[in-house]
Amino acid sequence: MAATTTRKEALERINKTFHDALERMIPEDENQRLPGDSFRDFELQAQAFKAALIPTLLEERARLTDSAEVKEAGCCPHCGSQQTRWATAPVQKEIRGPDGVMVLTRQQGRCRSCGRSFSPSGS
Ligand SMILES: [Zn+2]
Repeated sequence: MAATTTRKEALERINKTFHDALERMIPEDENQRLPGDSFRDFELQAQAFKAALIPTLLEERARLTDSAEVKEAGCCPHCGSQQTRWATAPVQKEIRGPDGVMVLTRQQGRCRSCGRSFSPSGS
């Protein structure tokens, strides 16, 4: 089992997402007009900021887990058989969470005994 990114790469992507989202809300250039006129506008900007940042944070955190990528499909969680194989190459799966859409890499194993599929890296 292994992470699919490094902490340095994850932090760089999170920092870039954070900086880009903040720049849209509060441009550093004093010559640019601050977007929005009302507190409601600011609330909507804060929601957009959150929607940009949280999925990236969750994607990178998931990639840092030791079980982000496994080498072998392993034991079938349905019947316990060791007769398993990879069903497909890892796929990018889009997940909609309360804070936005995230894309996670998902490995899928298949059991030769019971024929069912499973995700060896778990939840
Ligand atoms: Zn099975």
